[in-house]
Amino acid sequence: MIFGADGVYSAIRGAMQHNKGFNFSQEYLDHGYKELLLQQDPDFSKETNQDPKKEGHLMDSHSLHIWPRGLFMLMGLPNLDHTYTITLFLPHSKFDQLEQGSDRDVIQFFEQEFPDFLALIGPDRLLKQFRTNPVGHLLTVQTAPFYKNKSVIVGDAAHGIVPFYGQGMNAGMEDVRILLQIMDKNNLSPKTIQNEISSSKNFSIVDIFEEYYQKRKANVDTIAKLSRGNYDEMRDHVNHSDYKFRKMLDDYLFHFTSFLYWRGKPSREIWELSDEKLKDWVAQVWIPQYSMVSFSNIPYAKLMEKAKEQDRKVNDVIGFLKASGKFVGVIGVVGVAMMVITRFFPPTDSVQGRRPNGGRPGSL
Ligand SMILES: Cc1cc2nc3c(=O)[nH]c(=O)nc-3n(C[C@H](O)[C@H](O)[C@H](O)COP(=O)(O)OP(=O)(O)OC[C@H]3O[C@@H](n4cnc5c(N)ncnc54)[C@H](O)[C@@H]3O)c2cc1C
Repeated sequence: MIFGADGVYSAIRGAMQHNKGFNFSQEYLDHGYKELLLQQDPDFSKETNQDPKKEGHLMDSHSLHIWPRGLFMLMGLPNLDHTYTITLFLPHSKFDQLEQGSDRDVIQFFEQEFPDFLALIGPDRLLKQFRTNPVGHLLTVQTAPFYKNKSVIVGDAAHGIVPFYGQGMNAGMEDVRILLQIMDKNNLSPKTIQNEISSSKNFSIVDIFEEYYQKRKANVDTIAKLSRGNYDEMRDHVNHSDYKFRKMLDDYLFHFTSFLYWRGKPSREIWELSDEKLKDWVAQVWIPQYSMVSFSNIPYAKLMEKAKEQDRKVNDVIGFLKASGKFVGVIGVVGVAMMVITRFFPPTDSVQGRRPNGGRPGSL
């Protein structure tokens, strides 16, 4: 029995590809990435801690930072040691040009596109890292099924995705969770499974693997698609006013419907809800797609049904208002009303969807 968790260039998957009926596809993005480490704040002192939002980081430590530039972007994620991992996503052709160019070319690019980041990291540190750190590739890998004979693959080996929704590792963990759940249901563990197979003529490991594959395939295909789309959103759409408007509307509707749902009930965090309560909450509350993907265990394919339904409602209302010429007035009144309601009757923490240690909490 082989469990293959050997990543996007999986050797186990490579062996499976020689078998009849095992399908595989791989698609590289034209863009690559390079990581740069932004140092801790050298002037930070625990005693004074002048800026609690930064806590020793050079930028606000409670945020994901994006510098969207249309065709490309820079992104920053805070680390526990107060550094920041900064990732530059660029078309490979631009990376080639910069890598073959002079130091002045590299600095000029950052001066032009990301002057505030250049000021934080400093030209010397930037150049040293830019010249040393490799350009990584971004690819999507799809397989069907996720097993062959007595071997099964999980994580990037079965479904490598581009990193723009921050879900690659989570999706792999979910594979393992689901596979173990199916094994538990059949009173099996990775340790006992081999004995069961050799001692029973009726036992079919293929049934277990097939159930795992059926439960995961539509979901991992969905997150692969969402992840590709989120690159366009992060590097470009976030700059557009219709995106900002939709984001604001989603946030208000989230707070407003949560407020209605939780009124008079004790405060609970999303990940503390029972499966049944979570289902009820999800059914009744307006939840932005990003929150569903990042802060819940709703299967990816299922949450897309809700996201599409919410999109349809918003588009219907906007279409109607535009057609009747009342768009600006009505949106203004609704916006102010929601601001007043959520200001004076704030929803409980339970609707924030923010988990201290990250991850996709709860389960459905
Ligand atoms: C730039 C970037 C940012 C990302 N950000 C996020 C994020 O914010 N959130 C998130 O959830 N995911 C993120 N991901 C995705 C995440 O890193 C992967 O989805 C995750 O690491 C996959 O885990 P895995 O165990 O399947 O494979 P891997 O992490 O690749 O592990 C595979 C392991 O198998 C080993 N191995 C390979 N071949 C062999 C062999 N022949 N023999 C023995 N050992 C072998 C490797 O050494 C490695 O240790 C990001 C990815 C990238 C590229």
